[in-house]
Amino acid sequence: MTSERFDVIVVGTGAGGGTLAHTVAAAGRRVLLLERGDFLPRETENWEPEAVFLDGRYISPDVWFDADGSPFQPQVHYFVGGATKLYGAALYRLRPQDFGELKHVDGVSPAWPVGYDEFEPWYTKAEWLYQVHGHHGDDPTEGHWSKQYPWPAVSHESRIQQIFDDLTAAGYHPFSAPCGILLDEADRARSHCIRCTWCDGYPCLVHAKSDADTIAVRPLLMAPNVTLLVGAEVVKLETDATGRVVTGVVVSRKGAQEVYEADIVVVAAGAANSAKLLLNSANDRHPNGLANGSDQVGRNYMFHNSKAVVALAKESNDTVFQKTLGLNDFYLDNNDDPWPLGNIQMVGKSNGYAMKGEEPKLTMLAPHWSLDQVAEHAVDFWLTTEDLPDPDNRVTVDAKGQIHLAYTSNNDAEADALYKELRTILNHIGMAQHHVLGKNFYMKMNIPVAGCAHQAGTCRFGTDPATSVLDRNCKAHELDNLYVVDTSFFPSIGAVNPALTAMANAIRVGEHLNERLA
Ligand SMILES: Cc1cc2nc3c(=O)[nH]c(=O)nc-3n(C[C@H](O)[C@H](O)[C@H](O)COP(=O)(O)OP(=O)(O)OC[C@H]3O[C@@H](n4cnc5c(N)ncnc54)[C@H](O)[C@@H]3O)c2cc1C
Repeated sequence: MTSERFDVIVVGTGAGGGTLAHTVAAAGRRVLLLERGDFLPRETENWEPEAVFLDGRYISPDVWFDADGSPFQPQVHYFVGGATKLYGAALYRLRPQDFGELKHVDGVSPAWPVGYDEFEPWYTKAEWLYQVHGHHGDDPTEGHWSKQYPWPAVSHESRIQQIFDDLTAAGYHPFSAPCGILLDEADRARSHCIRCTWCDGYPCLVHAKSDADTIAVRPLLMAPNVTLLVGAEVVKLETDATGRVVTGVVVSRKGAQEVYEADIVVVAAGAANSAKLLLNSANDRHPNGLANGSDQVGRNYMFHNSKAVVALAKESNDTVFQKTLGLNDFYLDNNDDPWPLGNIQMVGKSNGYAMKGEEPKLTMLAPHWSLDQVAEHAVDFWLTTEDLPDPDNRVTVDAKGQIHLAYTSNNDAEADALYKELRTILNHIGMAQHHVLGKNFYMKMNIPVAGCAHQAGTCRFGTDPATSVLDRNCKAHELDNLYVVDTSFFPSIGAVNPALTAMANAIRVGEHLNERLA
């Protein structure tokens, strides 16, 4: 046990933990950050598709088990900055309707205990902290906003501008996607970002992506009130005899166990790992896992019902930074579709190695140069449909403390309808007539359970301790000093990328802690 006592211990340095640490450290709190990974090395492989997609260089060697007990390698990233080191930095707000009840084909997406109006100021703070580019007011489905984005929308390259114009002419409502990159288009000499292809799914070699490492954690490192320990995996939380107070954070580091203490303990290890930590911290007072009297810890795992779609056009697509366009025309119910279908956005430009890494069976016989040629013609879309919280979609741990993840998809009919809408769109905007193969060709991939990039929901917040793990401040109902601020707290996931909501919530909870500790 160390003699130093901290105000706040934060477990995990990703979107939730890194942002919360930034908030409480700025108020002068003594903060200990515990991160199981290390700093992601800056090396040429950061921008090599073969290393990133085929070799999976930055994916943890963790083994998890599916519902049948079969092992799989989850696509999780253990580094300072967490999953944001690899993320695409599409920093969307949820829609106001996502904070209320929303009916879907397979059930109801539940309401949050905090409404959009209450959340809005935190979204604004997160957009400013993470230097988001965009233009509020262009997406007809977005909620009200109190302050414009700090940076103008990233300009579309010619092929994407053409798609944008064609969509508009066909009566759709495309908008500029919100991007967290350190780009100054007005003064390229001062810009960190060189506007390259290696953004979505790659670490940024020049640290020009607004990830939690670059924006939230690294700026704290010289501060006298902040200590960061890397290679420090938190394996257990200990409580006092009443079970109400976390008294020790047990860490495995350099082959030994250490115990740290703080007034407040904040868990932000990612939705699956936070559930694992709480379940592995069972004791006499918490026999089913810490804070788990409700039996909700680990349940309601969500990760979106997503599809990656590659549309191959006859004309080549020389776009470098492709993620500048979004479309929410089908996000809520509309005249054609009775259900909310979700979001359509562009993803990073595909290449031969990415296609091989993501579709090994389909591309098995193709040499990578041929796939590279195919990819030159690709326009790449990402479709996101909300998946509903289902108590049987859950993280459990076995006798060895290892993660088992059971997941059955839902809202498949909505996801298929969204894909159908995309194909209709491509017909409307003339892409279908120009396909390489002389007929419509789309490579479509449903995301398997290992693709847990958008994992959420395993410790949902709510007002009723019988049905939720956390209260509206993300404090565990059953403990006085334990908070959870990664995407675990989501009671529903909406159909846009989750990171900005985790960041905004971390600032919200961080400011609550600053008041509590004052
Ligand atoms: C390839 C990819 C692309 C993505 N693109 C987008 C996007 O464009 N937009 C978007 O909004 N979202 C995107 N996401 C998702 C986004 O990155 C996550 O939603 C977000 O990072 C989740 O934040 P978190 O705090 O819950 O977890 P994380 O950011 O994963 O942080 C968890 C941290 O906890 C650490 N940790 C885990 N266990 C322990 C332990 N026991 N002890 C100590 N430390 C521990 C991990 O190493 C990690 O640093 C993407 C994700 C990936 C992988």
